Amino acid sequence: TPPRATAPTRTTCPYCGVGCGVLATPDGAGGAEIAGDPNHPANFGRLCSKGTALGETLGLDGRLLHPMRRQADGSFARVSWDSALDEIAGRLASIVARDGPDAVAFYLSGQLLTEDYYVANKLMKGFIGSANVDTNSRLCMASAVAGHKRAFGADVVPGCYEDLDLADLIVLVGSNAAWCHPVLYRRIMRNRETRGAKLVVIDTRQTASTEDADLFLQIAPGGDQALFSGLLAHLAATGAVDADFVAQHTSGFDFALDAARRLAPDAASTARLTGLAESDVSAFFALFAETPRVVTAFSQGVNQSAQGTDKTNAILNCHLATGRIGRTGAGPFSLTGQPNAMGGREVGGLANTLAAHMGFEPESIERVGRFWRAPRMATQEGLKAVQMFDAVAKGKIKALWIAGTNPAASLPDADAVREALGGLELLIVSDNVRLTDTIGGGAHILLPAQAWGEKSGTVTNSERRISRQRAFLAPPGETRPDWAIFADVGRRMGFDGFSFSSAAAVFAEHAALSAFENAGARAFDIGGLAQLSESAYAALEPTQWPVRHGEAKGRARLFAEGGFCTPARRAHFAAPATPRLAEALTPDFPLRLNTGRVRDQWHTMTRSGASVRLANHTLEPYVDIHPDDAATAHVVDNGFARVATARGACVLRVRVTARQARGQLFAPIHWTDQTAAQARIGALVGPHVDPVSGQPESKATPAAIAPH
Ligand code: SF4
Repeated sequence: TPPRATAPTRTTCPYCGVGCGVLATPDGAGGAEIAGDPNHPANFGRLCSKGTALGETLGLDGRLLHPMRRQADGSFARVSWDSALDEIAGRLASIVARDGPDAVAFYLSGQLLTEDYYVANKLMKGFIGSANVDTNSRLCMASAVAGHKRAFGADVVPGCYEDLDLADLIVLVGSNAAWCHPVLYRRIMRNRETRGAKLVVIDTRQTASTEDADLFLQIAPGGDQALFSGLLAHLAATGAVDADFVAQHTSGFDFALDAARRLAPDAASTARLTGLAESDVSAFFALFAETPRVVTAFSQGVNQSAQGTDKTNAILNCHLATGRIGRTGAGPFSLTGQPNAMGGREVGGLANTLAAHMGFEPESIERVGRFWRAPRMATQEGLKAVQMFDAVAKGKIKALWIAGTNPAASLPDADAVREALGGLELLIVSDNVRLTDTIGGGAHILLPAQAWGEKSGTVTNSERRISRQRAFLAPPGETRPDWAIFADVGRRMGFDGFSFSSAAAVFAEHAALSAFENAGARAFDIGGLAQLSESAYAALEPTQWPVRHGEAKGRARLFAEGGFCTPARRAHFAAPATPRLAEALTPDFPLRLNTGRVRDQWHTMTRSGASVRLANHTLEPYVDIHPDDAATAHVVDNGFARVATARGACVLRVRVTARQARGQLFAPIHWTDQTAAQARIGALVGPHVDPVSGQPESKATPAAIAPH
């Protein structure tokens, strides 16, 4: 038994986008004692229940420890790394030669580290020659990304966590931060207690966060952009617009204001469109108008919508109009779901981004191609997640590599996704665990990836802060870092540019690319970190980007004095579209199914499910329903019900509660066919996406419920 370590390793929590610093002290028996890092600026020593329980999730039960290959009888047999990687390289090359590069795709994860993302993105977009790289961040933050780009010219969160400490008004939109970003929520509560900040929560359902709200607006599904359009009209009508900021630093204000006025000219019309009481609407408008230090923090209730980009822009419009952006205690704030959704966005791990926040403009393709010395650059956007799996179903994609995610459970129309996987010529899955719905869906080759605590690299949290994840456990079995697996396949395919010696070398190249021929036009620039030695990378302190060449540290806030990333350096007001939901209710499906998280589980529970303490918070999958709807459907509290949509059905425990709005159901997403209690909520969600962001509408699927 190795001796018990005395010095903790400073690392970062692998769960939500708060990105809390963690001190992990190995116990010498494969586990570790966990504490919050008092010196990490995201959490100053605090951890939520999930972070605190990390030490209970480090066991090897269910881990994938060796490369495996599917046999003719459907079983998996262990193979060597050389055999697995040679086969992958050879078969990918053959498929590209036969069907072209777009017959291949990678589907990645916000759980991957930035270095993993970087190498996968480079391999596909520079060397295989397709932009078919997408990620489960498409289900999480894509609408915020698209809204940021449309307004600011780049995917930039303008503020920082300290703004939540210093705001006088915090507006949470579509966010149950008390459960989903708990440590940030504690900062908000502390601000409320010590400084008297007000909290407004806008949500379709009552949650732990709404209990603390000074004003809770229980909005109708799809109502957000009407509410913020009404707010924009109110700000203009009451003289709250910062005319100088608008004139000097923005474009499109008059057009957007006209559209907002047509949609929701006053509190009464806003109330009609949102299902809210006019007095509540007026109270919110007045509070926002009279409070200069306001942060509007938004999350999946905004993003997971077929109009998520418009909703994002309706929020950004109100901050741009008042100049409340990038200032102390003021700004719009996208709460990122996953631990490294931001890092993935930074390297270009989305099908509509090339690399380092660059798009597919000819000059960017040329620039990135020259930097990578790439023989076969992708020349146009690839397929976003839902499109990608549709192309799999249609046989257009022949080979798919899925890393660190489980789309057969998490994507909309998940039954169709699982069926489509079975038709692939080659399905490669790299993961920590031996069995997922995706692996069961027809994987051919399994690659064992290192897990949290074993691997090293960086993640970026919601406030643009890059933090180190550091290894503190020996990698078990034959597990390898994801970046090294992708690089090894690149080398075996005969490509130069994949001889990285370490995660630090990958990070240095990523940082150098961000600064390459970037005279300040691109906000994402970490050129100041491109020359880090191995030891400096090892010791890297949590750092906010941008960190340009020659700068010692990053910047907490951006855009207070303009300097946006559009060609004219002006922010753009996007006019709101008329609110609508993707699917109408029908007599067969008369209720709206909303999906989301519970406090103590994460994604499909492959890590958090290992903790008995966490499991005890919510023992089984459930559906919340209002008492009136329960009576109509003849379902009873604590009984079982079959919840069905046009896509699929599953059986759930019923929780009858007046906290749930009439006409709506809520079910959590975590359970799968591999968990003790089975329920794949993704199979019930329709594949309707936002036309700009490609993000699916996961919170308003027409549904029916009946006793089981
Ligand atoms: Fe981890 Fe998020 Fe909890 Fe922090 S708030 S400990 S990052 S799950």
